[in-house]
Amino acid sequence: MEISANTAEKNAKIYTLYSGSSGNSVFIRSGSSAILIDAGMSARSIEKALNAIGESLASLSAIFVTHDHSDHVRGIEVISKKHHIPVHAPNSCAPYIKCCEDCFFTHPPIFRCDVGGLEISSFVTPHDSHGSVGYTVCGDDISFALATDLGFMTDAVMEQLCGCSHVVLESNHDIPMLLSGPYPPQLKDRILSRYGHLSNDDCADSVAVLARNGAKAILLAHLSGENNRPELAFRSSMAALDSCGVRGVALGVASPDRPTRLL
Ligand SMILES: [Zn+2]
Ligand SMILES: [Zn+2]
Repeated sequence: MEISANTAEKNAKIYTLYSGSSGNSVFIRSGSSAILIDAGMSARSIEKALNAIGESLASLSAIFVTHDHSDHVRGIEVISKKHHIPVHAPNSCAPYIKCCEDCFFTHPPIFRCDVGGLEISSFVTPHDSHGSVGYTVCGDDISFALATDLGFMTDAVMEQLCGCSHVVLESNHDIPMLLSGPYPPQLKDRILSRYGHLSNDDCADSVAVLARNGAKAILLAHLSGENNRPELAFRSSMAALDSCGVRGVALGVASPDRPTRLL
């Protein structure tokens, strides 16, 4: 469920390359600057996805890491060693991320970087890793935010997302599917906890707030393969959009294994 390119502005591009428990990566280009947020698949898989959208690893200016879970950092070591791309991560995650030392830049949880005219800022997300952040990316033709892997929507996270025109937001699980599904009780508890993942219902509540605060396009992301269906995630957030009375917000669902365009 890709969002049509009717929101394209100048030459900015935003794609999820992969999204879900098997691996996550988001590509953002504005002008001559191109970045990834997370590289949670093999270098080869990420290169393949980039090639499919007319890009390549060699053209990246930087990679920003949200947290140290393998579905977000799996490709970092090979990519950084082969291509010497600067990798930025929260310092609490650094000991758990394998990366070319010369390319590794670690920061306090809340930090800001300029990459060729793009301003990238982090914000803290509640999640059970060694530190977890989301990012906003702002430039002449882009105002974007990403928040995945969060147990609940905090006021501080919502404050960062509000006002961004393009948002990638977690819609991880359908609660009844999770509760009746095959996961062991401890894993269900972890996913449902305040440091787990955002449910379709919680995502939908946030989508309604974003729609009233400037969002033009929202891509639902990090769907569980076991405890969700794209149509359930989409229906929850679409119902929230309908009931909040805001028209014209494009809603899509990120594919787990192929590039999905947001902008
Ligand atoms: Zn995680
Ligand atoms: Zn994840």
